[in-house]
Amino acid sequence: MDAVNETQSGLAGTLKTIIRTNGPMNIAAWMAHCLADPERGYYRSGEPIGAAGDFITAPEVSQMFGEIVGAWLIDLWQQQGSPKRLNLVELGPGRGTLMADILRVAKLDADFSAAVSVHMVETGTALRKAQEAALAPFSCPKDWHESLASVPDGPFYLIANEFFDALPVRQFVRQDGSWAERMIGLDAAGDFTFGFGPGRPERAPEGAAHGDVFEERPAALPVMDALSSRIARNGGAALIVDYGHAETGFGDTLQAVSHHRYADPLKDPGEVDLTAHVDFAALADAAEAGGAAVHGPMCQGEFLLRLGLGERAERLGFGRSEAEQAALRSDVIRLASPDEMGTLFKVLAVTPPGLQPPPFHEGS
Ligand code: SAH
Repeated sequence: MDAVNETQSGLAGTLKTIIRTNGPMNIAAWMAHCLADPERGYYRSGEPIGAAGDFITAPEVSQMFGEIVGAWLIDLWQQQGSPKRLNLVELGPGRGTLMADILRVAKLDADFSAAVSVHMVETGTALRKAQEAALAPFSCPKDWHESLASVPDGPFYLIANEFFDALPVRQFVRQDGSWAERMIGLDAAGDFTFGFGPGRPERAPEGAAHGDVFEERPAALPVMDALSSRIARNGGAALIVDYGHAETGFGDTLQAVSHHRYADPLKDPGEVDLTAHVDFAALADAAEAGGAAVHGPMCQGEFLLRLGLGERAERLGFGRSEAEQAALRSDVIRLASPDEMGTLFKVLAVTPPGLQPPPFHEGS
């Protein structure tokens, strides 16, 4: 059995050796190995996004997503006096499509285009190559970073789409009035299996019942703290878009996806995408603690429609064929319909205190 697994994926063999040596690992360690192992991690070497990959993201559905995000960022920059220098930052930029769409919109504002430096925070080498190619047509200064920490000081306009869901979570399970941590070990046949170990959450909500699962994402909080303290200090804004829940709650949301289908999170480590829902309340608390103001979360569909998604689709479709117009309508549905990405995906905005960005000022 072992030999089979080791030839299937070198990472499976390494993970078994680690578990045999150190004992079971928690879900966060499993996710970190599977996604970010320097040689065989899912995001390190592959190009998972797109029709030929494992999953599709909003910017890969339609250019309209990036255009609306770009217009929002430019609006927030103008509201803050159009500073002559700004860092446009993206966390986890995938194939670079979203940033390219933002920069194309930014060309319409000569002052913004002259002021902007792009900073891509990306750990994957193959994706970084795709990003470099996507941004090649744009002449502004561009830099790549392993983390937010090396992005230079200055006003800071940031977008993160489907970044936080890829950061590792820990899972805790309520059992007979106390907490245990969900772990991954090996069964008698030497295969990966779920089990329990000691551990309790940092900040679990009240009212957990027997069997409830609670997830925490320790790596997300320092990122939120860093971006919000920089926005509070130097000005700027951030949009965090991801799938998840507005209120902290219970549930096992760990999921594996391969070729657009759900997969077993314990099978083929390093070869399937692993994510978990984002707890937006936890992100918002961390941003407020960093000194910034938070707005939302608002459902993605509502955010995009209030900012003119429908009108944008009509304008793009003007004078085009019936088939092209139908494709645009189906993109709008994909991005905004409650049955698709419209409700599950949420948007959280972070700004300096005192600002009321659209469309959050209309109330949600
Ligand atoms: N934002 C893109 C891609 C989302 S996929 C889009 O909307 O299409 C997740 C992205 O986050 C990938 O680019 C992945 O390589 C990157 N990523 C995952 N973990 C990361 C980490 N810890 N630091 C930086 N980038 C990370």
